[in-house]
Amino acid sequence: MRAEVARIAAGDLEGYEKFLKASEAIYRVGFEALGDEPFDACTDMARVLPDLVRLEAYRKVYSLACKHVTDARLRVVLTFQSLLVGGNPFATTSVYCLIAFLERQWGVHFPIGGTGSFVRGLVKLIEGQGGAIRCSAKVAQICVTDRNAASSVRLSDGENLAADVVVSNCDSAWTYKHLLAPEHRHRWTDKRIERSRSSMSLFVWYFGTDGRYEDVAHHSNLLGPRYRELLGDSFARKLLAEDFSLYLHRPTATDPLLAPAGYDAFYVLSPVPHLDSGTDWERTAEPYRLAVQQRLEEKLLLGFGNAIVTSRLLTPQDFQDRLSSFKGAAFGLEPVLTQRAWFRPHNRSEEVDRLYLVGAGTHPGAGLPGVLSSARIFDKVVPHADVLIRARSA
Ligand SMILES: Cc1cc2nc3c(=O)[nH]c(=O)nc-3n(C[C@H](O)[C@H](O)[C@H](O)COP(=O)(O)OP(=O)(O)OC[C@H]3O[C@@H](n4cnc5c(N)ncnc54)[C@H](O)[C@@H]3O)c2cc1C
Repeated sequence: MRAEVARIAAGDLEGYEKFLKASEAIYRVGFEALGDEPFDACTDMARVLPDLVRLEAYRKVYSLACKHVTDARLRVVLTFQSLLVGGNPFATTSVYCLIAFLERQWGVHFPIGGTGSFVRGLVKLIEGQGGAIRCSAKVAQICVTDRNAASSVRLSDGENLAADVVVSNCDSAWTYKHLLAPEHRHRWTDKRIERSRSSMSLFVWYFGTDGRYEDVAHHSNLLGPRYRELLGDSFARKLLAEDFSLYLHRPTATDPLLAPAGYDAFYVLSPVPHLDSGTDWERTAEPYRLAVQQRLEEKLLLGFGNAIVTSRLLTPQDFQDRLSSFKGAAFGLEPVLTQRAWFRPHNRSEEVDRLYLVGAGTHPGAGLPGVLSSARIFDKVVPHADVLIRARSA
């Protein structure tokens, strides 16, 4: 990384080292010390305020990079990472600069067998401990007792499943707006949810090719001509722009068994506005996909159009309709300072007892490290099984 910085902006090498030091300091507090701590009370927030000020969390991601480096390309390279968790680097707190150090220190990992193998590992763990998993069972309502405690979930086919505690890893905005009746909500009212800022969405195209592209790396970013303006279109103005910045994923570079011998597997994604853009994705998806294909053909996968053997799309509409994400946002609430930690929907619901939230929409936020940290927080705040058993028999 240092050699690359020296190659493209030799004068910024010292500034890059300083940026990395700042990133490490944020990481030590923001991830190691606080990443798996619950933020139940506003005093939890007050406790960390001095650290936030010392680490300049009031700055935006881009502003912290600008403090240390001057080269425009380097500023992009050091700041786009907040997009990985749904944050616009021009609007999101510089706390997300911690990703730079985290990646340098621990590397970027990929589970052999794909993310599915990671899911299968968790299923094995749960079933090995005597837990049962039911798929294709949509929760329609979280039921609440007279004492304001979650007591069961009602599935969309009418079946009722009694529970000592209810844990939702569905999008937090969706959980509150659609699964918990309004009379049980005081903080996360429909009005407040509507007013909150949702993260951007994604256009994702999965495809497979007959033929392998050995010179294409596992991860490639193909930046468009605009940066700040393009992000402004997606996040603030909710405009689907004609230009785009793309991330191309080629997992078969690391794990060739994810495709038949001689074939490659890919996905390419483009950050796009959530459904407030008013885009008719049924009509727009195919022309947008073609434009993406054209750009890839020009820059990275020369003439691959004829080699495509399988293709599947995921649009903001799918994020909403298939994955129950409010407004089709891909990363839940936008992780700006006023929607983080205590300001985010709490892991221990502030609305009803015995309801817990995990996943991207609660604290600490999106991305697998964040989501797994939310599970660790749940472990800290959920009552011990003995307490629950005693309560059930009382
Ligand atoms: C294209 C893409 C690439 C990504 N790449 C990375 C990456 O490389 N590294 C990384 O760390 N993060 C990555 N992320 C982010 C990461 O995948 C998410 O932050 C994470 O999966 C969120 O986990 P979750 O449990 O909150 O929600 P999800 O994984 O979305 O799971 C929620 C589940 O709840 C189900 N559900 C919703 N409503 C109901 C209901 N009413 N009843 C029953 N079930 C319901 C949904 O169908 C869904 O299966 C990526 C995200 C996307 C979209």
